[in-house]
Amino acid sequence: MYNPRSLRAEEFISHEEIIETLSYARQHKGDRSLIAEIFAKAKLRKGLHHREAAVLLLNEDTDVTQQLYQLAEQLKQDFYGNRIVIFAPLYVSNYCINGCTYCPYHARNHHITRKKLTQEDIVREVTALQDMGHKRLAIEAGEDPVHNPISYILECIDTIYHIHHKNGSIRRVNVNIAATTEEEYHMLKEAKIGTYILFQETYHKESYEKLHPTGPKHDYAYHTEAMDRAMAGGIDDVGLGVLFGLESYPYELVGLLMHAEHLEAVHGVGPHTISVPRIKRADDIDPDDFDNGIDDDIFAKICALIRISVPYTGMIISTRESKAVRERVLPLGISQISGGSCTSVGGYDLPEPEEENSAQFDVSDKRSLDEVVRWLMEMNDIPSFCTACYRAGRTGDRFMSFCKSGEIQNFCHPNALITLQEYLEDYASPETKRIGQALIQQQLGGISNRQVRAKTEALLKKIAEGERDFRF
Ligand code: SF4
Ligand code: SF4
Repeated sequence: MYNPRSLRAEEFISHEEIIETLSYARQHKGDRSLIAEIFAKAKLRKGLHHREAAVLLLNEDTDVTQQLYQLAEQLKQDFYGNRIVIFAPLYVSNYCINGCTYCPYHARNHHITRKKLTQEDIVREVTALQDMGHKRLAIEAGEDPVHNPISYILECIDTIYHIHHKNGSIRRVNVNIAATTEEEYHMLKEAKIGTYILFQETYHKESYEKLHPTGPKHDYAYHTEAMDRAMAGGIDDVGLGVLFGLESYPYELVGLLMHAEHLEAVHGVGPHTISVPRIKRADDIDPDDFDNGIDDDIFAKICALIRISVPYTGMIISTRESKAVRERVLPLGISQISGGSCTSVGGYDLPEPEEENSAQFDVSDKRSLDEVVRWLMEMNDIPSFCTACYRAGRTGDRFMSFCKSGEIQNFCHPNALITLQEYLEDYASPETKRIGQALIQQQLGGISNRQVRAKTEALLKKIAEGERDFRF
């Protein structure tokens, strides 16, 4: 029985409700008056119900899709402006006891190079990341209670937060590790993580069980209920995601939105972020073995629909996607991207030797962080290295209330400018610095609150004089 308030996976992600939703959406595919009502609701910026999103998803009229893109772009501008937050993944271990059929780290893959970073390795890797200019990392690790117990993850986090190299520091560590217990989530909270990220992979239980034939991840309910345990353990900010390509995309989008509705209904706060990875080629993995791959048009439609359905939730796209695809979907609602990423275990300090391959997937966008920063600015986007909210205690429902009131704009925009200024001073190439400084001057004019603008100007001056780490 469907119940968004239930704590049982099969009730808040009800298979019957998804099937009925898709049937409802098919019946109303060309229903112009319903579509107009849905757009009118979305324009109020309070989000959409999963049934409403499904109607727009299955609609094939070009003009409806264009309307969807225009509204997504508008909401992106209203909530996120032209800022894009930058982060990098840090793979600390690819030992894994699970059997996920779409991931090269699965336990039966004996030809991939298995690696685990020591704390000394982490110091070298994070120093290299700081030298690139990164301030925000996402730790990635396989599930292996012997190689990667929670004590190892906690030690990695502690090491990372204590590395201060030149003007560098990592100010926010997000964590992407396997579903775990409430007690271990509480430990992560105590270790001061930012967002806990866990991809559902697929919401379709039967497919999920086939795609995860062995290991603890086989347990659909334990995996799907992980965010509730994380929140019960004190983690305010959680990040959802599905791996598009495993199951049919309409099923996945409806499941994803139901998960967001469930978190809001039970915990009073929806997901902090949603990631939209697509299955990619990797060692032992051929995307063509999976029947549900989505093309770039459908991918763009999904991004736009997520934007209008959950306007307060950040959306993340990684270097799995090419520059061209990233360019296409950035205006439709993406608020965070990775840049200069390495998806092998180690590889930031020294490239992985050719005879080794520990990568989770092939990176499509291989540009350096400096190139990514310049590219964003050339499109008039502001690369932001901001980590202010989590450090100022603006997390969970507190963060959402700032978002919903629109007050967050008074933080995001100046924070983007001052963290970009830090990047330009410490890490940018001369050309990137030149473009960035012109952009900052131009964007200062966009701060309508005179006090905020004056304070931003003062902080920019202090940064140019050598001071660091300011925030609104
Ligand atoms: Fe292990 Fe995660 Fe890869 Fe599955 S997706 S094999 S759990 S690293
Ligand atoms: Fe994110 Fe808060 Fe910084 Fe805005 S001010 S970019 S919401 S951390």
